[in-house]
Amino acid sequence: MDQIHKKWLGTKLGEHCVTHLINHRFDAHLVQTPQAAVNLILDWTAPFERFGFGGSDTINALGIKERLKDMGKRIFDHNEEGLSFETSLEYRKKQSNCDCFLCSANALSQTGEIVNMDGIGNRINAMTFGPKKVIIVAGINKVTQDLDSAIRRIREVAAPMRAKSLGADTPCALTGRCADCNAPMRICNITSILHRKPMLTDISIIVVNEEMGY
Ligand code: SF4
Repeated sequence: MDQIHKKWLGTKLGEHCVTHLINHRFDAHLVQTPQAAVNLILDWTAPFERFGFGGSDTINALGIKERLKDMGKRIFDHNEEGLSFETSLEYRKKQSNCDCFLCSANALSQTGEIVNMDGIGNRINAMTFGPKKVIIVAGINKVTQDLDSAIRRIREVAAPMRAKSLGADTPCALTGRCADCNAPMRICNITSILHRKPMLTDISIIVVNEEMGY
């Protein structure tokens, strides 16, 4: 598929997804480039001081942590190099009580649901209740046809790739296939489906019409 038609199809799928997310009371936006996502985030986050981050290749690729740090903002990033286990744990807890929490989603259904699986649960906690604002950024590769295919995407694509990237001792990190394992390092212990906007949480979703993360 050439780039023009790929972009066209992404726009159509993204528009469909955003429309249904808005129908489900989320604030949702489709942008064409990661830079456009960064511009929106910087605009929305100007009044905030304390930021939490879920582990996310998508958010890392935006370079937003560095931008916020340069602005003197306080960052709670449990993946920061050199953190002790205790500090990393403390940061995971603080993510639920920060001004703004940024993360990606494992899958967005075109029918307007946000689906995630966590091994620990700090991301799912923080994106559901606590922070003044939650911003979710997801590439068009995370958009699936419906809720069933969103859950399937996580087991077939997102979790094996994430497990591999973390060097997790799980069957999927070895074979690329989910074995519904019982490994201590299992990264999909908890499933969260945001069917509608949680009552007390201000959530914005940015769908980027490019492949980002996994
Ligand atoms: S259940 Fe186990 S094997 Fe399946 S995706 Fe999760 S970590 Fe991988």
